[in-house]
Amino acid sequence: MSRIDQNVVMQTLRSVLSFTDGRVGLHEPEFNGNEWRYVKECLDTGWVSSVGKFVDRFEQDLAAYTGAKHAIAVVNGTAALHVCLLLAGVERDDEVIMPALTFIAAANAVSYCGAVAHFVDSDIATLGLDPAKLADYLKEIAEVRGDACFNKRTGRRIKAVVPMHTFGHPVDLDSLVAVCDRYRIALVEDAAESLGSFYKGRHTGNWGCVSALSFNGNKVITTGGGGAILTNDPKLGALAKHLTTTAKVPHQWSFSHDRVGFNYRLPNINAALGCAQLEQLPQFVNEKRVLANVYQQAFTNVAGMSVFVEPSFAQSNYWLNVIMLDRDNAGQRDELLGISNSVGIMTRPVWTLMHEMDIYKSCPRMDKLEVAEDIEKRLINIPSSAQLGRTHARP
Ligand SMILES: *Cc1c(COP(=O)(O)O)cnc(C)c1O
Repeated sequence: MSRIDQNVVMQTLRSVLSFTDGRVGLHEPEFNGNEWRYVKECLDTGWVSSVGKFVDRFEQDLAAYTGAKHAIAVVNGTAALHVCLLLAGVERDDEVIMPALTFIAAANAVSYCGAVAHFVDSDIATLGLDPAKLADYLKEIAEVRGDACFNKRTGRRIKAVVPMHTFGHPVDLDSLVAVCDRYRIALVEDAAESLGSFYKGRHTGNWGCVSALSFNGNKVITTGGGGAILTNDPKLGALAKHLTTTAKVPHQWSFSHDRVGFNYRLPNINAALGCAQLEQLPQFVNEKRVLANVYQQAFTNVAGMSVFVEPSFAQSNYWLNVIMLDRDNAGQRDELLGISNSVGIMTRPVWTLMHEMDIYKSCPRMDKLEVAEDIEKRLINIPSSAQLGRTHARP
């Protein structure tokens, strides 16, 4: 077993990040397009809040870019997930399957519905939910009755599966769709990290009945805070808009609401930022893919680790680049995190697995979550902002 040489790792990181001076963040936003102009227009006209032309335009532009028929802008990705689950028909005491290796938002959104998260294992090739393992598992624990799927162990209905495209890498969607169809389970994609990522040539977020995007400050594009719901179903699209805008019955002056809705709409001022950011998305994704390539080349000869490469069926946005330590070197993870952060190169481990947190540790789950646990031990995210790829992208 060969120990990783910290100095070599740091030199390699510095060689890729050579033109930066001082601190390098993990993922930093950039506003060099029409952001100032569009936001100024909001301030000048007074259209800063819940309605305005930038909201409509942002939704149209998102739909055009992703190929989804309908996009509904909301306050953040977590709210998008919450409403996606409601649209998928998730009700109190249902179970919703998701990878143990995901961000907390999906599990929380399930809790908001009064439903129960159910954790499954990941695939080392995608870092996302493993459809083959899920199929084997459902064969063991699930039973389809009529048009619904039930967990034989708990008696609860399994209503939805929420895969997540980890760090921008799509899961194997065709296989997952087949499993969901067979078991009558709704597919809701957590595409919060995968704006700009394509599976077999089509944008992520188009495989389930609905999907969620996020425009938080550290995502590929940002609106300050924001999110969106994508769907190809006109009924669900209309319902998404209705539910996220207080379920108000359209009328010129009277206020009537036909169900308990949510005030989840994205303010116009945030949508203005979003329109300007979206104009630059293709450029950001190109630069991020160049950066990923530069990292892959730079680390080929560094012993004891490898840089994660997109799955063969994917064209990924490489939201956050990933270093995977070899299994024998997993023990050096914290040492490497410590030294890089102490010199101002920001790195971090993956999220604590859902079943390891007190609030979710009693949820149902696969007996073995070995791949998720293996990934958690040896994954490190390294700086991935689009601007870091820019210098390398110049001819
Ligand atoms: C960022 C993120 C979210 C939540 O988005 P917010 O806009 O921060 O609420 C959800 N899921 C995943 C996987 C994310 O990375």
